[in-house]
Amino acid sequence: MNILILGSGGREHALAWAIRQNPKCDRLFVAPGNAGMAPLAELADLDILSGSAVIAFCEENAIDLVVVGPEAPLAAGVADDLRAAGILAFGPSKAAAMLEASKSFTKEVCDACGAPTAAWARFDAAEPARAYIAEKGAPIVIKADGLAAGKGVTVAMSESEAIAAIDDAFGGAFGAAGAEVVIEEFMAGEEASFFILCDGVDCLPIGTAQDHKRVGDGDTGPNTGGMGAYSPAPVLTQAIQDEVMAQIVRPTVAEMARRGTPFQGILYAGLMIENGHARLVEYNVRFGDPECQVLMLRLGAQALDLILACAEGRLAETDVTWADDHALTVVLAANGYPGAYEKGTPINGLADLSEDSSHMVFHAGTALQDGKLVATGGRVLAATGRGNTLAEAHERAYALADAIDWPGGFYRRDIGWRAL
Ligand code: ATP
Repeated sequence: MNILILGSGGREHALAWAIRQNPKCDRLFVAPGNAGMAPLAELADLDILSGSAVIAFCEENAIDLVVVGPEAPLAAGVADDLRAAGILAFGPSKAAAMLEASKSFTKEVCDACGAPTAAWARFDAAEPARAYIAEKGAPIVIKADGLAAGKGVTVAMSESEAIAAIDDAFGGAFGAAGAEVVIEEFMAGEEASFFILCDGVDCLPIGTAQDHKRVGDGDTGPNTGGMGAYSPAPVLTQAIQDEVMAQIVRPTVAEMARRGTPFQGILYAGLMIENGHARLVEYNVRFGDPECQVLMLRLGAQALDLILACAEGRLAETDVTWADDHALTVVLAANGYPGAYEKGTPINGLADLSEDSSHMVFHAGTALQDGKLVATGGRVLAATGRGNTLAEAHERAYALADAIDWPGGFYRRDIGWRAL
Protein backbone atom coordinates (compact mmCIF):
# COMPACT_ATOMS: atom_id res chain seq x y z
CA MET A 1 0.00 0.00 0.00
CA ASN A 2 1.00 3.63 -0.54
CA ILE A 3 1.20 5.75 2.59
CA LEU A 4 1.43 9.49 3.20
CA ILE A 5 2.63 10.90 6.53
CA LEU A 6 1.85 14.56 7.28
CA GLY A 7 4.44 16.50 9.29
CA SER A 8 8.11 17.37 9.37
CA GLY A 9 9.48 16.66 12.86
CA GLY A 10 11.28 13.93 14.73
CA ARG A 11 7.91 12.35 15.44
CA GLU A 12 7.21 11.96 11.72
CA HIS A 13 10.74 10.67 11.03
CA ALA A 14 10.18 7.98 13.68
CA LEU A 15 6.78 7.08 12.19
CA ALA A 16 8.32 6.88 8.72
CA TRP A 17 11.20 4.72 10.00
CA ALA A 18 8.81 2.22 11.63
CA ILE A 19 6.26 2.16 8.79
CA ARG A 20 8.97 1.73 6.12
CA GLN A 21 10.05 -1.56 7.71
CA ASN A 22 6.66 -3.16 7.26
CA PRO A 23 6.41 -5.17 4.02
CA LYS A 24 2.84 -3.86 3.55
CA CYS A 25 4.34 -0.45 2.79
CA ASP A 26 5.03 0.09 -0.93
CA ARG A 27 5.53 3.78 -1.61
CA LEU A 28 6.01 6.06 1.40
CA PHE A 29 5.63 9.84 1.20
CA VAL A 30 6.15 12.47 3.89
CA ALA A 31 4.85 16.01 3.51
CA PRO A 32 6.74 18.23 3.98
CA GLY A 33 9.27 15.98 5.79
CA ASN A 34 12.91 16.87 6.36
CA ALA A 35 16.38 15.87 5.18
CA GLY A 36 16.63 12.91 7.55
CA MET A 37 13.62 11.20 6.03
CA ALA A 38 14.83 11.44 2.42
CA PRO A 39 16.51 7.99 2.47
CA LEU A 40 13.26 6.38 3.67
CA ALA A 41 10.50 8.26 1.91
CA GLU A 42 9.65 10.57 -0.96
CA LEU A 43 9.29 14.12 0.33
CA ALA A 44 6.31 16.10 -0.92
CA ASP A 45 5.94 19.85 -0.81
CA LEU A 46 2.34 20.20 0.24
CA ASP A 47 0.15 22.53 2.33
CA ILE A 48 -0.76 20.01 5.04
CA LEU A 49 -3.40 22.33 6.54
CA SER A 50 -5.39 22.23 3.32
CA GLY A 51 -7.70 19.22 3.04
CA SER A 52 -8.18 19.79 -0.69
CA ALA A 53 -4.41 19.93 -1.34
CA VAL A 54 -3.86 16.69 0.62
CA ILE A 55 -6.76 14.96 -1.17
CA ALA A 56 -5.45 16.03 -4.59
CA PHE A 57 -2.01 14.62 -3.70
CA CYS A 58 -3.59 11.35 -2.52
CA GLU A 59 -5.51 10.98 -5.76
CA GLU A 60 -2.44 11.69 -7.90
CA ASN A 61 -0.29 9.19 -5.99
CA ALA A 62 -2.83 6.44 -5.25
CA ILE A 63 -2.43 6.88 -1.49
CA ASP A 64 -4.18 4.20 0.59
CA LEU A 65 -3.54 5.61 4.07
CA VAL A 66 -2.75 9.05 5.47
CA VAL A 67 -1.08 9.24 8.90
CA VAL A 68 -1.49 12.70 10.42
CA GLY A 69 1.43 13.59 12.72
CA PRO A 70 0.85 17.06 14.25
CA GLU A 71 -2.25 18.59 15.83
CA ALA A 72 -2.65 21.56 13.47
CA PRO A 73 -4.02 19.59 10.47
CA LEU A 74 -6.30 17.65 12.84
CA ALA A 75 -7.66 20.86 14.35
CA ALA A 76 -8.12 22.14 10.77
CA GLY A 77 -10.30 19.11 9.92
CA VAL A 78 -7.95 17.45 7.43
CA ALA A 79 -8.82 13.94 8.71
CA ASP A 80 -12.56 14.72 8.20
CA ASP A 81 -11.89 15.92 4.65
CA LEU A 82 -9.90 12.78 3.83
CA ARG A 83 -12.56 10.42 5.19
CA ALA A 84 -15.29 12.36 3.36
CA ALA A 85 -13.28 11.77 0.17
CA GLY A 86 -13.12 8.04 0.92
CA ILE A 87 -9.42 8.04 1.88
CA LEU A 88 -8.34 6.08 4.95
CA ALA A 89 -6.93 8.45 7.57
CA PHE A 90 -5.29 7.89 10.95
CA GLY A 91 -6.22 10.75 13.26
CA PRO A 92 -9.31 12.25 14.90
CA SER A 93 -11.97 14.43 13.35
CA LYS A 94 -11.94 18.15 14.05
CA ALA A 95 -14.75 17.62 16.59
CA ALA A 96 -12.82 14.87 18.42
CA ALA A 97 -9.58 16.87 18.27
CA MET A 98 -11.30 19.27 20.69
CA LEU A 99 -9.92 16.98 23.39
CA GLU A 100 -6.63 18.78 22.76
CA ALA A 101 -7.82 22.08 21.29
CA SER A 102 -9.98 23.12 24.26
CA LYS A 103 -9.14 22.51 27.91
CA SER A 104 -12.67 23.32 29.09
CA PHE A 105 -14.10 20.84 26.56
CA THR A 106 -11.89 18.09 28.02
CA LYS A 107 -12.90 19.06 31.55
CA GLU A 108 -16.59 18.84 30.59
CA VAL A 109 -16.03 15.40 29.07
CA CYS A 110 -14.23 14.28 32.26
CA ASP A 111 -17.10 15.56 34.40
CA ALA A 112 -19.67 13.86 32.17
CA CYS A 113 -17.93 10.47 32.36
CA GLY A 114 -16.57 10.70 35.90
CA ALA A 115 -12.88 10.63 34.93
CA PRO A 116 -10.63 11.77 37.80
CA THR A 117 -8.98 15.13 37.10
CA ALA A 118 -8.27 18.41 38.92
CA ALA A 119 -11.27 20.44 40.14
CA TRP A 120 -11.79 23.36 37.77
CA ALA A 121 -13.76 26.42 36.78
CA ARG A 122 -13.98 28.45 33.56
CA PHE A 123 -13.92 32.24 33.26
CA ASP A 124 -14.38 34.71 30.43
CA ALA A 125 -13.60 37.81 32.48
CA ALA A 126 -10.80 38.79 34.85
CA GLU A 127 -12.80 39.98 37.87
CA PRO A 128 -14.59 36.71 38.77
CA ALA A 129 -11.35 34.82 38.01
CA ARG A 130 -9.49 36.96 40.55
CA ALA A 131 -12.23 36.36 43.13
CA TYR A 132 -12.01 32.60 42.54
CA ILE A 133 -8.24 32.68 43.09
CA ALA A 134 -8.71 34.64 46.33
CA GLU A 135 -11.21 32.01 47.47
CA LYS A 136 -9.10 28.94 46.54
CA GLY A 137 -5.60 30.26 47.32
CA ALA A 138 -2.27 29.01 45.91
CA PRO A 139 -0.79 26.83 44.55
CA ILE A 140 -3.26 26.97 41.67
CA VAL A 141 -3.05 26.46 37.91
CA ILE A 142 -4.13 29.02 35.30
CA LYS A 143 -4.63 27.89 31.68
CA ALA A 144 -5.57 29.68 28.49
CA ASP A 145 -8.45 27.55 27.17
CA GLY A 146 -7.21 27.14 23.60
CA LEU A 147 -3.97 25.97 21.98
CA ALA A 148 -1.05 28.16 23.06
CA ALA A 149 1.89 25.92 22.14
CA GLY A 150 2.62 25.01 25.74
CA LYS A 151 2.92 28.66 26.80
CA GLY A 152 -0.65 29.14 28.02
CA VAL A 153 -0.25 27.31 31.35
CA THR A 154 0.96 28.88 34.60
CA VAL A 155 1.47 26.70 37.65
CA ALA A 156 1.23 29.54 40.16
CA MET A 157 2.87 29.00 43.52
CA SER A 158 1.49 32.29 44.91
CA GLU A 159 -1.76 34.20 44.52
CA SER A 160 0.06 37.17 43.00
CA GLU A 161 1.57 34.92 40.32
CA ALA A 162 -1.91 33.56 39.59
CA ILE A 163 -3.39 37.06 39.31
CA ALA A 164 -0.55 38.07 36.96
CA ALA A 165 -1.36 35.07 34.75
CA ILE A 166 -5.04 36.09 34.67
CA ASP A 167 -4.07 39.63 33.68
CA ASP A 168 -1.80 38.26 30.93
CA ALA A 169 -4.49 35.99 29.49
CA PHE A 170 -7.25 38.61 29.52
CA GLY A 171 -4.73 41.21 28.36
CA GLY A 172 -4.38 39.22 25.13
CA ALA A 173 -1.02 37.47 25.72
CA PHE A 174 -2.33 34.26 24.09
CA GLY A 175 -4.63 35.85 21.51
CA ALA A 176 -7.93 34.09 21.00
CA ALA A 177 -6.63 31.02 22.91
CA GLY A 178 -6.74 33.12 26.10
CA ALA A 179 -10.20 34.67 25.68
CA GLU A 180 -11.40 32.00 28.09
CA VAL A 181 -9.38 30.79 31.04
CA VAL A 182 -9.58 27.54 32.99
CA ILE A 183 -8.46 27.65 36.61
CA GLU A 184 -7.55 24.31 38.13
CA GLU A 185 -6.69 22.77 41.43
CA PHE A 186 -2.93 22.13 41.67
CA MET A 187 -2.15 18.40 41.53
CA ALA A 188 1.02 17.19 43.20
CA GLY A 189 2.78 14.01 42.03
CA GLU A 190 4.87 12.61 39.19
CA GLU A 191 3.84 13.13 35.56
CA ALA A 192 3.84 10.43 32.91
CA SER A 193 2.38 9.92 29.46
CA PHE A 194 0.18 7.04 28.34
CA PHE A 195 -0.51 6.31 24.66
CA ILE A 196 -3.69 4.56 23.61
CA LEU A 197 -4.96 3.75 20.12
CA CYS A 198 -8.71 4.30 19.84
CA ASP A 199 -10.89 3.34 16.86
CA GLY A 200 -13.99 5.14 18.07
CA VAL A 201 -15.20 2.13 20.06
CA ASP A 202 -12.25 0.03 21.23
CA CYS A 203 -8.95 1.06 22.80
CA LEU A 204 -5.49 -0.50 22.77
CA PRO A 205 -2.67 0.83 24.99
CA ILE A 206 0.63 0.93 23.09
CA GLY A 207 3.07 2.25 25.65
CA THR A 208 4.06 4.69 28.36
CA ALA A 209 6.76 7.36 28.46
CA GLN A 210 8.13 10.23 30.46
CA ASP A 211 9.47 13.38 28.87
CA HIS A 212 11.67 16.26 30.04
CA LYS A 213 10.15 19.66 29.29
CA ARG A 214 12.73 21.98 30.83
CA VAL A 215 15.72 23.02 28.79
CA GLY A 216 18.38 22.45 31.45
CA ASP A 217 19.83 19.58 33.47
CA GLY A 218 18.03 18.94 36.75
CA ASP A 219 14.75 20.13 35.15
CA THR A 220 15.80 23.78 35.27
CA GLY A 221 15.27 26.71 32.90
CA PRO A 222 12.37 27.50 30.59
CA ASN A 223 9.92 25.01 29.11
CA THR A 224 10.57 23.53 25.68
CA GLY A 225 8.79 21.23 23.27
CA GLY A 226 10.65 18.38 25.00
CA MET A 227 14.38 17.69 25.48
CA GLY A 228 14.24 13.91 25.80
CA ALA A 229 12.05 10.97 26.76
CA TYR A 230 12.15 7.34 27.71
CA SER A 231 9.77 4.41 27.54
CA PRO A 232 8.39 2.60 29.46
CA ALA A 233 7.73 4.92 32.42
CA PRO A 234 8.15 2.74 35.53
CA VAL A 235 5.84 5.02 37.53
CA LEU A 236 2.92 3.90 35.33
CA THR A 237 2.68 0.39 36.73
CA GLN A 238 0.36 -2.15 35.12
CA ALA A 239 -2.12 -1.64 37.97
CA ILE A 240 -2.22 2.12 37.37
CA GLN A 241 -2.52 1.60 33.61
CA ASP A 242 -5.48 -0.74 34.16
CA GLU A 243 -7.11 1.79 36.45
CA VAL A 244 -6.55 4.61 33.94
CA MET A 245 -8.08 2.53 31.16
CA ALA A 246 -11.12 1.73 33.31
CA GLN A 247 -11.65 5.14 34.93
CA ILE A 248 -10.35 7.65 32.39
CA VAL A 249 -9.70 6.37 28.86
CA ARG A 250 -12.60 3.99 28.19
CA PRO A 251 -15.15 6.37 29.77
CA THR A 252 -13.78 9.23 27.62
CA VAL A 253 -13.99 7.19 24.44
CA ALA A 254 -17.54 6.10 25.32
CA GLU A 255 -18.55 9.70 26.09
CA MET A 256 -17.11 10.93 22.77
CA ALA A 257 -19.06 8.21 20.92
CA ARG A 258 -22.22 9.08 22.85
CA ARG A 259 -21.85 12.69 21.71
CA GLY A 260 -21.70 11.54 18.09
CA THR A 261 -18.03 12.52 17.79
CA PRO A 262 -16.14 9.22 18.20
CA PHE A 263 -12.40 9.51 18.78
CA GLN A 264 -10.22 7.69 16.25
CA GLY A 265 -6.44 7.97 16.42
CA ILE A 266 -3.85 8.07 19.15
CA LEU A 267 -4.99 9.43 22.49
CA TYR A 268 -2.09 10.73 24.53
CA ALA A 269 -3.11 10.98 28.17
CA GLY A 270 -0.92 13.23 30.32
CA LEU A 271 -1.30 11.88 33.86
CA MET A 272 -0.36 12.98 37.36
CA ILE A 273 0.42 10.02 39.62
CA GLU A 274 0.27 10.28 43.37
CA ASN A 275 -0.10 7.53 45.99
CA GLY A 276 -0.58 4.83 43.36
CA HIS A 277 -3.44 6.57 41.54
CA ALA A 278 -3.53 8.73 38.42
CA ARG A 279 -5.54 11.79 37.50
CA LEU A 280 -5.78 13.32 34.04
CA VAL A 281 -3.75 16.49 33.41
CA GLU A 282 -4.53 16.78 29.72
CA TYR A 283 -5.21 14.92 26.51
CA ASN A 284 -3.33 15.33 23.28
CA VAL A 285 -4.77 13.87 20.11
CA ARG A 286 -1.50 12.92 18.40
CA PHE A 287 1.81 11.30 19.33
CA GLY A 288 4.13 13.32 21.53
CA ASP A 289 7.43 14.54 20.15
CA PRO A 290 9.93 13.18 21.34
CA GLU A 291 7.82 10.39 22.98
CA CYS A 292 6.96 9.04 19.52
CA GLN A 293 10.65 8.39 18.84
CA VAL A 294 10.98 6.01 21.80
CA LEU A 295 7.61 4.34 21.12
CA MET A 296 8.41 3.73 17.44
CA LEU A 297 11.88 2.36 18.18
CA ARG A 298 10.21 -0.14 20.52
CA LEU A 299 7.27 -1.04 18.25
CA GLY A 300 9.14 -1.25 14.93
CA ALA A 301 7.30 -2.57 11.88
CA GLN A 302 4.15 -3.52 13.81
CA ALA A 303 3.42 0.20 14.20
CA LEU A 304 1.87 0.14 10.71
CA ASP A 305 -0.34 -2.86 11.52
CA LEU A 306 -1.54 -1.10 14.67
CA ILE A 307 -2.20 2.21 12.89
CA LEU A 308 -4.07 0.38 10.10
CA ALA A 309 -6.18 -1.59 12.57
CA CYS A 310 -7.02 1.67 14.30
CA ALA A 311 -7.97 3.52 11.11
CA GLU A 312 -10.04 0.53 9.90
CA GLY A 313 -11.86 0.03 13.22
CA ARG A 314 -10.32 -3.39 13.97
CA LEU A 315 -8.70 -2.77 17.37
CA ALA A 316 -10.97 -5.31 19.12
CA GLU A 317 -9.12 -8.09 17.28
CA THR A 318 -5.62 -6.54 17.50
CA ASP A 319 -2.80 -6.99 19.99
CA VAL A 320 0.63 -5.49 20.54
CA THR A 321 3.64 -7.81 20.56
CA TRP A 322 5.73 -6.54 23.43
CA ALA A 323 9.46 -7.00 23.66
CA ASP A 324 10.77 -6.59 27.18
CA ASP A 325 12.78 -3.56 26.09
CA HIS A 326 13.48 0.08 26.90
CA ALA A 327 14.18 3.12 24.74
CA LEU A 328 15.56 6.56 25.47
CA THR A 329 15.94 9.62 23.28
CA VAL A 330 18.10 12.71 23.72
CA VAL A 331 17.09 15.86 21.83
CA LEU A 332 19.89 17.94 20.32
CA ALA A 333 18.76 21.56 20.07
CA ALA A 334 20.27 24.68 18.53
CA ASN A 335 22.23 26.92 20.92
CA GLY A 336 19.82 29.51 22.32
CA TYR A 337 16.70 27.32 22.10
CA PRO A 338 13.96 27.80 23.35
CA GLY A 339 14.84 31.48 22.87
CA ALA A 340 16.29 32.92 19.66
CA TYR A 341 18.70 30.53 17.94
CA GLU A 342 20.88 30.47 14.86
CA LYS A 343 19.77 28.59 11.76
CA GLY A 344 21.96 27.01 9.13
CA THR A 345 24.79 25.74 11.36
CA PRO A 346 26.57 22.67 9.89
CA ILE A 347 26.13 19.18 11.39
CA ASN A 348 28.83 16.56 10.81
CA GLY A 349 29.49 13.00 11.82
CA LEU A 350 26.05 11.54 11.11
CA ALA A 351 27.19 9.59 8.06
CA ASP A 352 29.68 7.63 10.20
CA LEU A 353 27.06 6.41 12.68
CA SER A 354 25.69 2.95 12.17
CA GLU A 355 21.94 2.92 12.62
CA ASP A 356 19.80 -0.14 13.32
CA SER A 357 16.78 -1.11 15.39
CA SER A 358 18.64 -0.19 18.61
CA HIS A 359 20.38 3.00 17.44
CA MET A 360 18.62 5.72 15.48
CA VAL A 361 19.11 9.43 15.04
CA PHE A 362 15.75 10.92 14.08
CA HIS A 363 15.79 14.31 12.40
CA ALA A 364 13.49 17.10 13.53
CA GLY A 365 14.87 20.23 11.90
CA THR A 366 17.49 19.56 9.24
CA ALA A 367 17.99 20.35 5.57
CA LEU A 368 20.61 19.67 2.93
CA GLN A 369 22.41 22.78 1.66
CA ASP A 370 24.87 22.16 -1.19
CA GLY A 371 24.92 18.51 -0.16
CA LYS A 372 25.76 19.33 3.47
CA LEU A 373 23.50 18.80 6.45
CA VAL A 374 22.49 21.96 8.35
CA ALA A 375 20.20 22.73 11.27
CA THR A 376 16.95 24.51 10.41
CA GLY A 377 14.99 24.42 13.65
CA GLY A 378 15.12 24.74 17.42
CA ARG A 379 14.97 21.04 18.14
CA VAL A 380 17.10 19.45 15.45
CA LEU A 381 17.96 15.78 16.14
CA ALA A 382 16.81 13.05 18.51
CA ALA A 383 19.53 10.50 19.32
CA THR A 384 17.61 7.38 20.29
CA GLY A 385 18.76 4.08 21.77
CA ARG A 386 16.99 0.84 22.64
CA GLY A 387 18.20 -1.91 24.95
CA ASN A 388 17.29 -4.65 27.37
CA THR A 389 17.52 -2.17 30.23
CA LEU A 390 17.01 1.56 30.47
CA ALA A 391 20.70 1.90 31.34
CA GLU A 392 21.63 0.18 28.07
CA ALA A 393 19.24 2.36 26.06
CA HIS A 394 20.68 5.42 27.83
CA GLU A 395 24.25 4.43 27.00
CA ARG A 396 23.37 3.87 23.33
CA ALA A 397 21.47 7.15 22.98
CA TYR A 398 24.28 9.16 24.57
CA ALA A 399 26.94 7.38 22.51
CA LEU A 400 25.08 8.56 19.40
CA ALA A 401 24.62 12.11 20.71
CA ASP A 402 28.29 12.34 21.71
CA ALA A 403 29.43 11.18 18.27
CA ILE A 404 27.54 13.95 16.45
CA ASP A 405 29.79 16.87 15.59
CA TRP A 406 27.57 19.96 15.88
CA PRO A 407 29.13 22.96 17.61
CA GLY A 408 25.87 24.88 17.00
CA GLY A 409 23.88 22.61 19.30
CA PHE A 410 23.53 21.29 22.84
CA TYR A 411 21.69 18.57 24.77
CA ARG A 412 20.79 17.65 28.31
CA ARG A 413 23.07 15.18 30.06
CA ASP A 414 20.49 13.77 32.46
CA ILE A 415 17.66 12.34 30.37
CA GLY A 416 16.09 9.42 32.24
CA TRP A 417 17.38 10.43 35.67
CA ARG A 418 14.13 9.64 37.44
CA ALA A 419 14.05 6.06 36.24
CA LEU A 420 17.79 5.40 36.33
P1 ATP B 1 -0.79 24.55 25.79
O1 ATP B 1 -2.23 24.36 25.65
O2 ATP B 1 -0.39 25.97 26.12
O3 ATP B 1 0.00 23.94 24.66
P2 ATP B 1 -0.36 22.21 27.44
O4 ATP B 1 -1.37 21.54 26.62
O5 ATP B 1 1.02 21.65 27.45
O6 ATP B 1 -0.31 23.75 27.12
P3 ATP B 1 -1.09 21.22 30.06
O7 ATP B 1 -0.47 19.94 29.70
O8 ATP B 1 -2.50 21.24 30.48
O9 ATP B 1 -0.89 22.32 28.95
O10 ATP B 1 -0.17 21.83 31.22
C1 ATP B 1 1.24 21.99 31.04
C2 ATP B 1 1.97 21.48 32.25
O11 ATP B 1 1.55 22.20 33.41
C3 ATP B 1 1.69 20.02 32.60
O12 ATP B 1 2.51 19.16 31.88
C4 ATP B 1 1.96 20.00 34.09
O13 ATP B 1 3.33 19.90 34.36
C5 ATP B 1 1.48 21.34 34.54
N1 ATP B 1 0.09 21.26 35.00
C6 ATP B 1 -1.01 21.43 34.27
N2 ATP B 1 -2.12 21.28 35.01
C7 ATP B 1 -1.71 21.03 36.27
C8 ATP B 1 -2.39 20.81 37.52
N3 ATP B 1 -3.72 20.86 37.62
N4 ATP B 1 -1.63 20.58 38.62
C9 ATP B 1 -0.27 20.59 38.53
N5 ATP B 1 0.41 20.79 37.41
C10 ATP B 1 -0.29 21.01 36.27
